[in-house]
Amino acid sequence: MPELPCPSGPDGPDPGDFRPSTAAVRGGLHRSPFQETSEALYLTQGFVYDTAAEAAAAFAEEIDRYTYSRYANPTVTTFQERLALVEGAQECLATATGMSAVFTAVASMVRSGSRIVAARELFGSTLTVFDGILAGWGVVTDYVVGTELDQWASALKTPADVVFVESPTNPMQDVLDLPEICRLAHGAGALVIVDNVFATPVLQRPLELGADLVVYSATKHIDGQGRCMGGAVLGSRELLAGRMRTMLRMTGPTLAPFNAWVLTKGLETLPLRVRAQSAVALELAAWLERQPGVASVRYPYLPSHPQHQLARSQMRGGGTVVTFTLDTDRGDVEPTFAFLDALRVIDLSSNLGDTKSLATHPATTTHCRIEPALREQMGITGATVRLSVGLEDVEDLREDLGSALARFRNAA
Ligand SMILES: *Cc1c(COP(=O)(O)O)cnc(C)c1O
Repeated sequence: MPELPCPSGPDGPDPGDFRPSTAAVRGGLHRSPFQETSEALYLTQGFVYDTAAEAAAAFAEEIDRYTYSRYANPTVTTFQERLALVEGAQECLATATGMSAVFTAVASMVRSGSRIVAARELFGSTLTVFDGILAGWGVVTDYVVGTELDQWASALKTPADVVFVESPTNPMQDVLDLPEICRLAHGAGALVIVDNVFATPVLQRPLELGADLVVYSATKHIDGQGRCMGGAVLGSRELLAGRMRTMLRMTGPTLAPFNAWVLTKGLETLPLRVRAQSAVALELAAWLERQPGVASVRYPYLPSHPQHQLARSQMRGGGTVVTFTLDTDRGDVEPTFAFLDALRVIDLSSNLGDTKSLATHPATTTHCRIEPALREQMGITGATVRLSVGLEDVEDLREDLGSALARFRNAA
């Protein structure tokens, strides 16, 4: 069934002309006959028909209308339209979680015998999808070091179906050369899928850099207030309309209308939040770099970042996450735990993109299942801390980090 009967008023501006901040507030808004100010929440499983013939026509796809919320729901449509406008994409398909977006995007583009080439630095569950699930279905994944273009070039001398990357990567913030990777991938006949969670649509537009599909965990910055899970796949109508839409509708990882409504309201403040959090993250990254007890800081917009120039050229800000490694001889866990346990404002949590600042110890939580040798190659040690910067006053965050660093220096 095509998407949906909800025309905007005949005299209104074309939402396609909205700039991203306007689209974030007004995109996809289709008022009901009650003319509510805010977006309506259509918390319904199904839809009713005036006649049996109308139901028959709807199921035969002769008329455009909502039939069942696993297929389409007006509140989910609003979220999809709004995010597509913010991203500058033709289409968006919303999903229940970020992982269902990753899985639906990749699985609908491969079949037995397909080949994926991916950067090694990936979200842990994505690695499990490739190596633990798709591998068993006859889909091979070859990994390269994301920042090494010669590795991409040699891996893509052989045809491939999908290239999958994140940039900046989690948690070490490697910045991958998206235009060049897309060029090499297209030369090998592959579609490029970018997981843009760290950058958000506010700071990086992968489709403009050559990517074919963008995936999000909306759980992160799009909600940004720690409430709902969600995800999205964005790209051209052609790529989203066929197999991918069928797979989503028939296998059912559909976004719930209530969550779609929360995420829609999250989009309204996304540009403001991300710009504010990114500005404080840059300030804290530069400050952390000067603190005794901090061995190194990874943040794309710091001049010390190895791909600093590339980050400046393909991103509009350094992002909301700062990764740093404390100064211990052997990357010790205990003094790092002393630092984390001493935080009083910043919460310990494995999430990111929230208005509340959150600190994570990747080696023992988000990345604990990765082979220690690979973890070390990725640069993650027992002394590595990932800090997701929220919306608190920067001075409160600085004081909190400062006193926790003092605790660390006593423990180290
Ligand atoms: C969180 C995250 C995901 C998965 O999203 P969920 O909403 O937890 O399913 C995928 N990729 C990246 C980079 C993430 O940070």
